[in-house]
Amino acid sequence: MTPASRRVFAVIAAAGSSSRMGGKKKEFLPLPQGGTPLSRCLAVFLKALAGHRDFPLERVVIALPAEDFARHAREAQGALAAVLEAPRPGGLVSVDFVPGGATRQESVFRSLLFLQEHAPPEFARDALVLIHDGARPGMDEALVLRVAEAAATGGAALPAVEPVDTLKERGAEGLVSRHLDRSALAAAQTPQGFWFLPLLEAHRAARQNTGRVYTDDTEIWDALVPPGVNRGVRLVEGSARNKKITYPEDMPGHPVYRTGLGNDLHPLVSGRRLVLGGVEIPAGKGEGGHSDGDALLHAVIDALLGASALGDIGSFFPPGDPAWKDADSRDLLRRAWAAVEGAGWGLENIDCVVELEEPKLLPWREAVRESLAEILGCLPERVFVKAKTGEKIGPVGRGEAVRAWAVCLLKKNEGP
Ligand code: MG
Repeated sequence: MTPASRRVFAVIAAAGSSSRMGGKKKEFLPLPQGGTPLSRCLAVFLKALAGHRDFPLERVVIALPAEDFARHAREAQGALAAVLEAPRPGGLVSVDFVPGGATRQESVFRSLLFLQEHAPPEFARDALVLIHDGARPGMDEALVLRVAEAAATGGAALPAVEPVDTLKERGAEGLVSRHLDRSALAAAQTPQGFWFLPLLEAHRAARQNTGRVYTDDTEIWDALVPPGVNRGVRLVEGSARNKKITYPEDMPGHPVYRTGLGNDLHPLVSGRRLVLGGVEIPAGKGEGGHSDGDALLHAVIDALLGASALGDIGSFFPPGDPAWKDADSRDLLRRAWAAVEGAGWGLENIDCVVELEEPKLLPWREAVRESLAEILGCLPERVFVKAKTGEKIGPVGRGEAVRAWAVCLLKKNEGP
């Protein structure tokens, strides 16, 4: 290694709750070009620096939510599978998950401590650390190298771009107090790069300052880096593609929609329960069938599987398979929906018609909508159910059968 060269640690911060993403952890969502934000970030670090002559990557630490850490680690493992299983010609780089904290600052601090505890002291002494948001999958290799070079030289480096929006300073009483000159401003991105040990010391000092919230690691560096180390953060050119995913519409790509149609009919027989949408409805006769016979849930399953082109209820749950004898159809829908969601689809809405001569379904409608919404993990506004009789004709009209129809609209993001 040349005198300017330094070993590199990387921290990927992915411990946030993704509260503005509708409950899905954004770092784990499928990207249209394949992979996930988390796997893209790791892949770029590996490609840029694994085995690099001047900036060899030694370790990557990924901070995940401490709550439910084991589950998040499993999901992260899945989100990273494509990268972790690919051959890594650059040599061995260890990748570890650590439980994060309540704030990003705390998550980064815990990651830095982990690195100090697990890296040999001679590695840590002169190392650089690059700290990146797991929700910025648009980072590229050239950007990583620009940051590493500037941080190696100056101690701290920050990639930034000119803000897209003109910025104003908020004053008292809802008035603008200052009109800021956009060309003099920089919108901060990540990865931010630092000399490792001085940053760790600055983070330790920041923790003593309880009550003070620092916006990012460069502010902590500027305010608290130990004496004898250069202050100042070098600006390097960021990238317009290196945007942070905050809202679902920030996911790259464009939305694609698919509709699906499902239909099911079950005979009505004595001695069976009448179950529709997972709700048991008091009635003289109930649905015959291999499972609980819930015609409405079966129609919904077929609509969802059809829209996603994954199969149909018969291929997912063969009627001859003893596993599904007397099955609770809510479990069947949960499994089918997990497969559809796993293929990247989200539910826009579902609409159903139940054909039933008696009893009247209307008093049960809200319970049925809520039951469907609960199974599908959506709000009841996205689900509607209507009832029709058979007008005394045909198998439904004669009270010999119940029939259900469902249509759904699914949405997912596809390549830009
Ligand atoms: Mg059926």
